[in-house]
Amino acid sequence: MKRKMWKKGRIRILAAISAIVYQTVILSGCGQAPARQLTSVDTAMGTIVTQTLYAKPGTAQREAAGEEAAAEGAAAEDETDRILQLLADLEERELSWRIPDSEIAGINARAQEAETEGGHGEKTVTVPISSSMEKLLLQIWQVSEDSGGAMDVTVGKLSRLWNLDELAAAAEDEASRIQLPTARQIQAALEEMGYERVQLSEGSITLPAGMQLDLGAVGKGLACDRISEYLHGQPRITGAVVTVGGSVLTYGQKPDGTPWRVAIMHPRKEDSYLGTLELTGEHHISTSGDYERYILVDGVRYHHILDPVTGCPARSGLCSVTIVYDNGLLADALSTACFVLGAEQGLALAEAYGAEALLVEEDGTLYMTEGMQEIFIAE
Ligand code: ADP
Ligand code: MG
Repeated sequence: MKRKMWKKGRIRILAAISAIVYQTVILSGCGQAPARQLTSVDTAMGTIVTQTLYAKPGTAQREAAGEEAAAEGAAAEDETDRILQLLADLEERELSWRIPDSEIAGINARAQEAETEGGHGEKTVTVPISSSMEKLLLQIWQVSEDSGGAMDVTVGKLSRLWNLDELAAAAEDEASRIQLPTARQIQAALEEMGYERVQLSEGSITLPAGMQLDLGAVGKGLACDRISEYLHGQPRITGAVVTVGGSVLTYGQKPDGTPWRVAIMHPRKEDSYLGTLELTGEHHISTSGDYERYILVDGVRYHHILDPVTGCPARSGLCSVTIVYDNGLLADALSTACFVLGAEQGLALAEAYGAEALLVEEDGTLYMTEGMQEIFIAE
């Protein structure tokens, strides 16, 4: 049995090393340039977060608050730390299905309890939700509807069944056999999903017993929206590029006036780029690919983007989708939806939203919206 795994562990180590290197660069460059550049590489929301912020001189970095700050410790945090904190809060308070205190975990726990108590079939639970969660879910539901259910965050049971982290760990351990989900398990998980079975009404969500929400397809894009909001309240930050896993935010201007350049990974050639996007001002760029989390078993690629029709990793012919849009949550939702739909329907969906899209098929064929052709520079 031939096995290969994704390299999350290695990436984490690299990120830690890079963080130290970048800190050194920042400190040695302090106060010399007219616009100061702050750069950091960290992990948050289970992925790598890279930040490059351009700030007008005088922006509080670690220097400003003097003795008071030293006394308070955390008060001397710089902007990059604040952004990391914002991501940690988003994960811990709202999105995570692993952290019991998050709002999503709370909803899932109630639905699970109802099932454990014997609530199958038509039994539902109603759980109060915050107005921001309600707004978020309404936007997500719209993309589910527009994509015919290709993107559906009620996928929780199924995504846990296809736990790529566990499968990859098993693949590393040659002694253990990889246990792919069985047809029966997949069918059972499919029966517990379906966004159209959920009701959102003012202040509450009603969902079937046992259904589990997984906001993995939209979390990083939403994170970029929150970062954008934060930056809009920081007039001294004049430009930024922040990446949260496969989601990127470009914001403001570069001090030298040149466009932002965002590299798109080559889905099949490791450590190379397919090309670069040249962008001016604020944009949200989201990429979904089958090369991020996967295992190969007997030459078959099992990845983390699931098709709600088959219950298996999507086989639409695509291996990568990049969306450029003015909203992070929607860019992320659309990249997942388009991946599942395939080139033709994916392109139509992106166009319907007025989003720019780059879709890559396994044989290397590229599909682009008109606007994408103007900003994409092939390698
Ligand atoms: P990434 O998380 O790598 O950026 P995506 O944005 O495409 O990739 O989201 C994939 C994640 O979303 C999966 O890890 C899983 O948690 C969840 N997911 C998988 N398939 C779907 C789907 N069809 N609809 C909604 N969520 C999905
Ligand atoms: Mg996505």
